[in-house]
Amino acid sequence: MSAYAAPLKDMRFALSELAGLSQVAQLPGYEDASPDTVDAILEEASKFATEVLDPLNYSGDQEGSVWSNGEVRTPKGFREAYAQFCAGGWNALPFEEKWGGQGLPRLVSTPVQEMWKSANLSFSLCPLLTQGAVEALLLRGSDELKQAYLPKMVEGKWAGTMNLTEPQAGSDLSLVKTKAERAGKHYLISGQKIFITYGEHDLSENIVHLVLARTPDAPEGVKGISLFVVPKFIANSDGSPGKRNTAKCASIEHKLGIHASPTAVMVYDKAVGYLVGEENRGLEYMFIMMNAARFAVGLEGVAIAERAFQRALAFAKERLQGRDLVGGGKAVPIIRHPDVRRMLMLMKSQAEAMRALAYTTAAALDFSQRSKDSEERRRCQAFVDLMIPVVKGWCTETGVEVASLGVQVHGGMGFIEETGAAQYLRDARITTIYEGTTGIQAMDLLGRKIAREGGATAREWLAALKNFDIELARSRNADVQAIRKHLSAGARAVSDCVDFIVAEKNLQAAFAGAVPFLKLMGIVAGGWQMARAALASERLISEGAADKSFYTAKLGTARFYADQVLVQAPGLRDTVVNGAAAVMALSEDQFLAA
Ligand SMILES: Cc1cc2nc3c(=O)[nH]c(=O)nc-3n(C[C@H](O)[C@H](O)[C@H](O)COP(=O)(O)OP(=O)(O)OC[C@H]3O[C@@H](n4cnc5c(N)ncnc54)[C@H](O)[C@@H]3O)c2cc1C
Repeated sequence: MSAYAAPLKDMRFALSELAGLSQVAQLPGYEDASPDTVDAILEEASKFATEVLDPLNYSGDQEGSVWSNGEVRTPKGFREAYAQFCAGGWNALPFEEKWGGQGLPRLVSTPVQEMWKSANLSFSLCPLLTQGAVEALLLRGSDELKQAYLPKMVEGKWAGTMNLTEPQAGSDLSLVKTKAERAGKHYLISGQKIFITYGEHDLSENIVHLVLARTPDAPEGVKGISLFVVPKFIANSDGSPGKRNTAKCASIEHKLGIHASPTAVMVYDKAVGYLVGEENRGLEYMFIMMNAARFAVGLEGVAIAERAFQRALAFAKERLQGRDLVGGGKAVPIIRHPDVRRMLMLMKSQAEAMRALAYTTAAALDFSQRSKDSEERRRCQAFVDLMIPVVKGWCTETGVEVASLGVQVHGGMGFIEETGAAQYLRDARITTIYEGTTGIQAMDLLGRKIAREGGATAREWLAALKNFDIELARSRNADVQAIRKHLSAGARAVSDCVDFIVAEKNLQAAFAGAVPFLKLMGIVAGGWQMARAALASERLISEGAADKSFYTAKLGTARFYADQVLVQAPGLRDTVVNGAAAVMALSEDQFLAA
């Protein structure tokens, strides 16, 4: 099985040529993110991903996490890897210096996190969940809670979880039933949570659960949900883990993928919990944090696509099968066959398009928080809000498609576990489900991000695409011109759909096209990034930049993306605008003819 190698060249290209690392490094507090420092961080992270996390990916999948008597044992090697991860400061990378973090921009932590996810998705979920819990505490935790929990969680000594889901409350969190009764300064939490990632494990000394629950007099629905910190071990006054809390792991799930990541059923039986922020505002806090969590899961799509591509490429270069169409003779490596090339190009081009979109969104997130110019902060925040469901929904759906193509490139060996190709597909499959299914992302995009504001931000983005078209028009390069043609057709398709969504009064008609619209947005936003990459590559080649081969490959990959992926945009437009009647045509009884 080939080892994961971080795509450092493409990462650097996306960071500097597309996402604007040098501008991000000028934001207040981010001055340390110089190209040299960022390069050194990427090099070190890439070593850790290849040498420590990647070798545990397959064995972790085969062994899985094991539950016994309320305790969970992670697969062999995970404990040591986690200890090394924390000792190396990797857990602290995305956090503020005040709490022991490294204070780096989101744009810099993004490629690093992509590496963890590519090398070992199951492992990467533990720091991801801790990050979510840290952000909740930073957002609304009292000073006392922050002092007690943040330093240890930032270091990784204590891990975090997010407890939202209950058997009757999945996509619809208004149905949460877990109770929280006041008991002096704290609360007693009772209820059951399901599907809790890293709800129990042996990696850290303590586990800090962030739990959604209702106080007895809370109003019904979303306005009556509060957020609580419920530690596995209640902290002593000196900060050490003390008494075992009555938050127990009743079992873990047997599942399709991410076997090494324990997915716990948690039972809270009058467990001691501490309120975060104010009562009844828990879901509101969750929504503020959701951008970061959804972005992180979208990045999983990018990461899995990259990993599946690397594996398929290595196989396609080795596997001898079939004669060369032109040369004939002996069996050749399958990479010589046009259809295998097509699959590899689909994998490579979409992975690069998704990476570029994710990094550009990460940079916008940095600007939205740190720019000195309030108009720029507003514009970047609106762009982030628009793109988050696209990054989450499109990158994960495409990640699954790319992982499936990876299996196809392997032929029968792809279906056999030893190659690893099957694991990437199994692991990828959850990414379109957790942190809001694709259907939920698409409804968020269409309802909250487009219809509610009359399409304002989407039109702002379309105006930027129009300006960019003027730049593209100046190029004499035939590939750039072909890309331009497809990008402007794609932008027209998005524009037609935005007009349709804003005007449509029948909600069923609008929402029937929500997922195709999300796909259209992803394909066009990815096409925009690939066109930017093509233009930058053309410029760098003309300036005589070293590594001409990388830039010509970039141009070729962008051209392929335009011809084979972006070209789907007008068809998706028709599906969105005209597809609703057919979606709703059958009565419920007509689905299965008796
Ligand atoms: C491995 C794993 C790890 C997880 N980790 C966590 C975790 O750490 N913490 C946590 O709290 N939860 C976690 N979850 C739960 C996860 O977030 C939910 O499974 C997910 O949000 C979907 O909810 P559900 O399973 O109840 O599906 P449902 O909400 O029942 O959805 C079923 C289907 O109906 C669709 N649907 C539902 N409502 C609508 C609607 N209004 N309009 C259109 N379509 C709709 C959905 O898109 C989906 O296709 C995890 C789940 C798994 C499997």
